[in-house]
Amino acid sequence: MTVKTRFAPSPTGRLHVGNARTALVNWLYARAHGGVMQLRIDDTDRERSREDYVAGVLADLDWLGIPADESFRQTERADRHAAAFERLVACGRLYPCYETPEELSARRAAQLAAGRPPVYDRAALALSDADRAALEATGRRPHWRFRLDDRETSWEDLVRGRIDVHAGSLSDPVLIRADGAPTYTLATVVDDAETGVTHVIRGEDHITNTAAQIQLFHALGAAEPHFGHLAWLLDAGGAGLSKRVGSLAVAELREDGMEPLAVAAFLARLGTSDAIEPVAGLDELVASFDISRFGRAAARFDPADLVQLNARQIRRLDAGGVRARLVGLGVPDDLVAPFWDAVAGNIERIAEAGRWWQVVAGPVTPVIEADETSQAVLAAARDTLPPEPWDETTWSAWTRGIQGLTGVKGRGLFRPLRLALTAAEHGPELKKLLPMIGAARAAARLSGRDA
Ligand code: GLU
Repeated sequence: MTVKTRFAPSPTGRLHVGNARTALVNWLYARAHGGVMQLRIDDTDRERSREDYVAGVLADLDWLGIPADESFRQTERADRHAAAFERLVACGRLYPCYETPEELSARRAAQLAAGRPPVYDRAALALSDADRAALEATGRRPHWRFRLDDRETSWEDLVRGRIDVHAGSLSDPVLIRADGAPTYTLATVVDDAETGVTHVIRGEDHITNTAAQIQLFHALGAAEPHFGHLAWLLDAGGAGLSKRVGSLAVAELREDGMEPLAVAAFLARLGTSDAIEPVAGLDELVASFDISRFGRAAARFDPADLVQLNARQIRRLDAGGVRARLVGLGVPDDLVAPFWDAVAGNIERIAEAGRWWQVVAGPVTPVIEADETSQAVLAAARDTLPPEPWDETTWSAWTRGIQGLTGVKGRGLFRPLRLALTAAEHGPELKKLLPMIGAARAAARLSGRDA
């Protein structure tokens, strides 16, 4: 059996980190088991589905490095959904219902008021042919419900262990709406059954659907796939992600300069018992992937933690891995390696290297403080500017000399030099920046001139 997972977003909004995590776990599961991941675009809600959201899903998966191995849109399979509907009617598992949404909600309210669970009462099963004809004569069109077997339905959840649901506690699900369109339940089961999906991994909000879906697989003569339900992902404040995507959209993280590998490393381990660490590549996540390590408790997505991981992740990149982007920020090809060596530990996002390149190449408006010590240090620095070529040993030899001349050491020595040379109080090690800044710019900045 070849493992086939699937990621099935509805293109009614941008992917948020919770969706991305579902996609990633499906991809990792497939890769870890030598299988494939299907992308199914759940576009049966034609009013809310949008092309730009479909494009966004594809772009986000590509960016994360987890493109699907096959993909289709649910609306392409409308004839298959219709055929399944006919079969289910023929075998007596579907029955027509005529209640309006208002009637159904009034009935639910009455059940709740009487302390009973708001389960559909199957009133439509009692309708005679004459009743139905009379209802249709008033212009009502039927929606169709799937008659659940009144039995215990169970599965071994990949995340949560054994789950038993008594189908008597569930409403018979609607499979066809009054306008003839298939619902999510029908379309998803028909597609999963007919396209060979072996593992359905999705959010815990779908647990309540699973028992009915298992019965529907059986009614269609198919074996049900394995199911795994991931616990909720909450935002840093503990709220659910579905409503307020905002900055937790994958596209936002990309624009904010997060590395796709950092996002993947973060989402692959969030909510598991494993430490969240930078990784060498997606392969490392595949090799260490074990779905049973996901817990049942909701996990919180704190963007500040992701930024920290991003900073650690980029420190692992070598110059070759960032060359194109640093060249794009203006760093000359031959300085990429020493420049990256100097700044990698001082930034959280690669784009921030641009600021440090500006400090190297200028123009920088030096910060010169007027106190006596600073003035003495800067004067000594100007007088003893070493001849080029400069390398990483230049800084310590030069500053030792300045210390000898002035008797100033520690912060009193280094602060005025750093402020003059970089216009900043903190930053990458000067022994590494200095050879790139070079003697001409250094001399000008020590004299207070922009360079
Ligand atoms: N389109 C559904 C959703 O986004 C898919 C659910 C499923 O994975 O079955 O919730």
